Amino acid sequence: MPIANQYRSGLDKNAANYTPLSPLSLLARTAYVYPARAAVIHGQRRLNWAQVYERCRRLASALARAGVAAGDTVATMLPNVPAMYECHFGVAMCGAVLNTLNTRLDAPTIAFMLDHAETKVLLTDREYADTVAASLAGLKHKPLVIDVDDPSFDGGRRLGGIEYEAFIGGGDPAYEWFLPDDEWDAISLNYTSGTTGNPKGVVYHHRGAYLNAISNIVSWGMPPHAVYLWTLPMFHCNGWCFPWTMAANAGTNICLRKVDAPAIFDLIREHGVTHYCGAPIVHNTLINAPEEIKRGITHTVHCLVAGAAPPGAVIEGMQKMGFNLTHVYGLSETYGPAAVCAKQPEWDALPLDEQVRLNGRQGVWYHLQQGMTVMDPVNMQPVPWDGATMGEVMFRGNITMKGYLKNPQATAAAFAGGWFHTGDLAVMQPDGYVKIKDRSKDVIISGGENISSLEIEDVLYRHPAVLAVAVVARPDPKWGETPCAFVELKAGTSPDAQEIIAFCRERMAHFKAPKAVVFGPLPKTSTGKIQKFILREQAKSASAID
Ligand code: ADP
Repeated sequence: MPIANQYRSGLDKNAANYTPLSPLSLLARTAYVYPARAAVIHGQRRLNWAQVYERCRRLASALARAGVAAGDTVATMLPNVPAMYECHFGVAMCGAVLNTLNTRLDAPTIAFMLDHAETKVLLTDREYADTVAASLAGLKHKPLVIDVDDPSFDGGRRLGGIEYEAFIGGGDPAYEWFLPDDEWDAISLNYTSGTTGNPKGVVYHHRGAYLNAISNIVSWGMPPHAVYLWTLPMFHCNGWCFPWTMAANAGTNICLRKVDAPAIFDLIREHGVTHYCGAPIVHNTLINAPEEIKRGITHTVHCLVAGAAPPGAVIEGMQKMGFNLTHVYGLSETYGPAAVCAKQPEWDALPLDEQVRLNGRQGVWYHLQQGMTVMDPVNMQPVPWDGATMGEVMFRGNITMKGYLKNPQATAAAFAGGWFHTGDLAVMQPDGYVKIKDRSKDVIISGGENISSLEIEDVLYRHPAVLAVAVVARPDPKWGETPCAFVELKAGTSPDAQEIIAFCRERMAHFKAPKAVVFGPLPKTSTGKIQKFILREQAKSASAID
């Protein structure tokens, strides 16, 4: 017999005590409390929070008038411009779902996504006109195309019948936007990179977007009114939920169309930027920028790194530059970062190399995530906290996707056993912090031994001539696989392959050292990830040095 619980009856949810969690509420509050504060800055253009709120309501109204209904998809092919920021609110305000397309993708992939999501409206920037035109050409059901005509960009061409400002100009500034009936309703769709087969459509709900927006503030320790520079593409996992975070924070968004070191340092000085996010490559670009363009920053800049494991050299380089780096970890499926290498105050007194080692770990779950652990994916048993036994990183909690759109099989596999399987291989260290060793598909198996490509990369980043490096498996008739290093050199340096291999052999077990080295620029995605699948192909024809 269930025990009667006096707290369960006559105490039901109603409109006064329960509201679906949604990041849309955050914008409405900030526009109410801080209407005149700077919200979005792009070049000479400044919008305050009242204006942004009004523009988002106009967008929602104009979309609704154009026939967009609850559950329809509105896609964007946009860089970090004000319209992209507004789409993060305006689209959901009329019940629609935002799909931010990766602007570096090719036409067939874009066409696949537009078709798969049954996209009704596409907002696009002149810069991507050729790709977008080619992707639309083959579509049976063409979306309504709205051009976002950014005056700061020359070139490209318009594709649609209407420009964004005219479109929202026809919308109602007092549009009565609405929250979803259910916080579990979708707010956005983010396609994974699809390096194996078709991309999967990761669906976020209002609840998770709200919780991660707030968790970014709590887990990073962001003070109110941050000045946030958009070095991270907003198209990537909805900019790790930062469009919504910045509305909660009542801060200022500084737009940036593309990562460029001089522009970044200029904007940091001009606007007093306090916060920015990026993949290791973004931070590395700043570390390696000429000293003269770095001068004149007198305040502390706080930055998040994720997207790939930050090499020790990046953590150290940021520290030396005086930037306060925090390491976070996550995936598209976890709304961007859902774990943080939470800093312990006593680490500050440790030698720099020890601090670098500790901060290089992926850490522990975000405040508003429920859990992260490392398990054997077959028997779902946690690995011992010995820093040596490998398992798969698993997440659970409210900052985990709804599932993959129209893909029940992949969804079930991802959630098998009541945890989200990340595909990342890691160990659990004795203090309960997770340390990633590799992505399961990137680990190198040589003579039956697992070699972590990240470990070799970490060593190579310490070589003074190395600007960027990626290590992948190269088929080997004797060992099965051996490591092959692809190295991008700093200007004016010219070490040879022998020197690179010797540098590794001095610092790690000999069987882990690369057997082949290839010099040249590394293929990267727009989010700064090195495309190892391309390198794995190239490694097949690289010659080994014995
Ligand atoms: P995609 O899977 O399309 O490359 P994601 O952004 O979802 O895009 O990539 C998530 C992956 O990036 C993770 O599974 C992990 O392998 C890697 N990653 C992200 N952050 C970190 C980090 N801090 N340390 C190590 N790897 C990371």
